Amino acid sequence: EDTPLVSRRFVNIEHPERDDITKLSSKIRVLQWNILSQSLGESVDNFVACPESALEWRRRRQQLSEEIVRSQPDIICLQEVDHFNYFQKTLSTQGFKGIFFPKPDSPCIYIKDNNGPDGCAIFYKEDRFDLVRSENRILEVWTVQSNQVGVLAILKDLESGQELCVATTHLKARSGALLSTLRNEQGKDLLDFVQANAEQRPVILCGDFNAEPIEPIYSTVLGHDLLRLGSAYRYPSGQEPAYTTWKIREEGEVRQSIDYIFYSEEHFQVDALLQFPDGEEIGEGRVPSFRYPSDHFSLVCDLTLVRTNGNET
Ligand code: NDP
Ligand code: CA
Repeated sequence: EDTPLVSRRFVNIEHPERDDITKLSSKIRVLQWNILSQSLGESVDNFVACPESALEWRRRRQQLSEEIVRSQPDIICLQEVDHFNYFQKTLSTQGFKGIFFPKPDSPCIYIKDNNGPDGCAIFYKEDRFDLVRSENRILEVWTVQSNQVGVLAILKDLESGQELCVATTHLKARSGALLSTLRNEQGKDLLDFVQANAEQRPVILCGDFNAEPIEPIYSTVLGHDLLRLGSAYRYPSGQEPAYTTWKIREEGEVRQSIDYIFYSEEHFQVDALLQFPDGEEIGEGRVPSFRYPSDHFSLVCDLTLVRTNGNET
């Protein structure tokens, strides 16, 4: 049946007039989303408040595409992708091209009737960007490869002529001191990977970091002395949103802010953010549900390329 997606709206971010800033492009709309792997969602996750029929692939794929396309992004970063071919096919009809890198030992492949490993993907609008090159990385922890990956694209913005570095990741899940240390190490390796490829280019780094802002990895990302990243969703309150994922498992309700869009602050201005639906709109069973196809919400922001004309004194 036809069930409308939860409704969402964009909020514009106001900036004080600054004559030392030159805009180099129109907005670049970036979408970040852990889409919930089909195999994991049906077999492992145990969303006790979600009817099984809401998780049928034929229903979900329609809603996943709709959620992506309705916000009209230029760049899309996805995690838990175990149907890359489907997205490549549907999103190509909307003018996107994509790259994909699977996890080396994805838990999906151990599930009956799986559709292959899950991984991270980046899609970009072909009429806006040229792909200069792409890189993949199996993230290392103390020089040993882990089961988490990073995917990176150097894109040339055809409007401004500027090259950008776009990267995405899905860090190790679950809580505990050891795991938050592990995520921090994975994140450091990811930042090295991004820095090595970005060089001086503007950076957009999106992902499911599986870490709330109190975890070490959050400060590691924002404290990187060369990349100088900010978190888009800290506008306008100065704080991360209350949640980016909200689900009910057997153990209870899980409501956390663990997904981020980071960007190099000297290169971009944040002009708009897609707000999260409130608890009432989401519904008692939280997500996934008949009205939303993942346990994570998509993050969407408008970034404008800027140049700061420093006071040369
Ligand atoms: P992660 O710990 O990173 O988690 C993998 C996935 O599980 C993530 O996509 C995560 O989603 C999801 N997840 C997180 N918390 C829960 C939860 N409470 N219940 C259900 N799903 C959850 O795993 P790794 O990639 O490091 O792989 C290791 C895992 O793979 C092991 O935990 C094991 O279960 C499985 N495995 C199984 C094998 C087998 O023979 N059956 C062999 C090898 C691995 P999110 O990020 O959204 O939280
Ligand atoms: Ca998941």
